[in-house]
Amino acid sequence: MDRGDVTVPVLIIGGGPIGLGLAADLGWRGVECLLIEKNDGTIYHPRADTENCRTMEFCRRWGIAEKVRAAGTPPDFPRTVIIVTALTGFEIARIERPTHGGEAPLPYTPERTQRCNQIRFDPILRELAESFPSVRLRYKCRFESFVQNADGVTAEVTDVVSGRRERIHAQYMIACCGGQSSVAKSLGIGFDGEPVLDHNVNIMFRVPELWKYHDKGKCAFNFIMGPEGNWGNVMEVNGDDLWRLGVSGFDEPVDPKKIDPHHYIRRAIGTDIPYEIISVNPWTCRSLVAKSYGRGRVFLAGDAVHQHSPAGGIGMNTGMGDVVDLSWKLDAALSGWAGPDLLASYEAERLPVGRRNVRVATENFFLSRQQFDEPLTPIVDATPAGEALRRELGKSLVEQRSKVHIFDGMALGYRYDQSPIIWPDGVTPPPEMKTDYIANACVGARAPHAWLADGRSILDLFGRGFVLLRFGGGEADTAGLEKAARAHGVPFTVCDIADPEIQKLYERRLVLVRPDGHVGWRDDAPPADPAAVIDRLRGAAT
Ligand SMILES: Cc1cc2nc3c(=O)[nH]c(=O)nc-3n(C[C@H](O)[C@H](O)[C@H](O)COP(=O)(O)OP(=O)(O)OC[C@H]3O[C@@H](n4cnc5c(N)ncnc54)[C@H](O)[C@@H]3O)c2cc1C
Repeated sequence: MDRGDVTVPVLIIGGGPIGLGLAADLGWRGVECLLIEKNDGTIYHPRADTENCRTMEFCRRWGIAEKVRAAGTPPDFPRTVIIVTALTGFEIARIERPTHGGEAPLPYTPERTQRCNQIRFDPILRELAESFPSVRLRYKCRFESFVQNADGVTAEVTDVVSGRRERIHAQYMIACCGGQSSVAKSLGIGFDGEPVLDHNVNIMFRVPELWKYHDKGKCAFNFIMGPEGNWGNVMEVNGDDLWRLGVSGFDEPVDPKKIDPHHYIRRAIGTDIPYEIISVNPWTCRSLVAKSYGRGRVFLAGDAVHQHSPAGGIGMNTGMGDVVDLSWKLDAALSGWAGPDLLASYEAERLPVGRRNVRVATENFFLSRQQFDEPLTPIVDATPAGEALRRELGKSLVEQRSKVHIFDGMALGYRYDQSPIIWPDGVTPPPEMKTDYIANACVGARAPHAWLADGRSILDLFGRGFVLLRFGGGEADTAGLEKAARAHGVPFTVCDIADPEIQKLYERRLVLVRPDGHVGWRDDAPPADPAAVIDRLRGAAT
């Protein structure tokens, strides 16, 4: 090793929400890691706005859910979606989203889908990550290349300020460096799907209390339709003075210097009002998922492995699911209790979710960009023909777009059915749905939420290690599983739950929940071979 080289157990490339989420989760577990980010951490063109209820459950686990809520769109700002000809024009459709935002409790999650734009969300993640002594964040440090062997990874990086080249040695390297990441290519990993669905431009602008200039009221999403169909979307960014107009459907990449953002803002609002343009950011909509999530000691997460339409707010949320799955496995590998297959199960569990989410986001894209056989010419007319068209269209739009904008099924219903590190019990799980979530404790599923007698959610028990839930008065013998876990240093606790309603939800008297909060094994009686169950769940079955 040369002088100046750095050695660290986990090197994270990229300080977007996914790199920061991984650093935070590793830090929360006490795992030493270094994150490098080529920029200074300023977010010039914020994208993600919506943390679904699963991401909010992770935030709850990390102790920042309250902060995210406080920093996000105020709870009383309606998460309503409207489709209009302009904000001051005709209303075509309106979709209320009672399970998003607000404060009223939901039966199936202790959290609610929250809107908190990355300009506020990422700094909360950063502050959390930096609060752990085992985490180091290094900005203005650019990743260049890497080599790996059986013992570790060596990354070449450049200090952007001094221009100095350095080497970082790590046991594992995780690429969270977004859609332009070179790491997949270096590993020889290709992508399935479409590299271009369309080209778009986002225009961030400032208008305090925009809703005072029109009669539609406060709404999170204001889709704008013209004779050519849906061409734009005005979204609230902070529930106050920041708005983002997305203009879609360009055939070529947008050159910000060649478009007139004022034209689009005026058309979306429908009248002249005072506003300030903050940024104009072109982007390309894709539908891509990597064929593999890593090789050897290098793994990829977030947009580095899946890029898709933002319709339905799935991207960052999927990436958060990736890192929560990977983090406890890295911890296990570094702590010595992982079997040889545990890290490989990251791909087995998350690639199918990535494929599903890219497919759904692409369906959402086509639902949102619905093509019409003929121009909807009368749509903006104050005539009976215009009114009839808007009424007719409104009905179908509510039905179609509800599938895009209500997504608790997507957020909570994903399962790891085909995982090599769960112990299937032969029960057919409920169907996975986009909009609705059916609470269940099937093996591979997210262990479902229920309130405990002391006011905590049962989810508050999960995260640090394996938790064996024992229902029915502590009669079932857990000694075999405890002994098998202890034999390999697997973190393991037993929790007795007396509530018969929760037992009904979990369906078995013994339910073993993994550190990521997914059910790994369940039965009414202790397993005949507890060591085999523990070995399977720690990736040591082969
Ligand atoms: C218009 C729009 C709206 C969206 N809304 C939502 C939403 O509401 N909810 C949602 O879940 N998702 C949403 N998404 C998707 C979401 O923004 C992305 O999925 C998310 O930002 C991906 O995070 P990431 O950390 O993987 O990648 P990125 O956010 O791209 O971050 C990657 C980081 O890596 C750094 N980096 C890159 N190369 C290097 C290098 N060589 N060395 C060091 N650092 C490097 C970059 O500077 C960057 O900071 C939206 C996307 C768009 C386009």
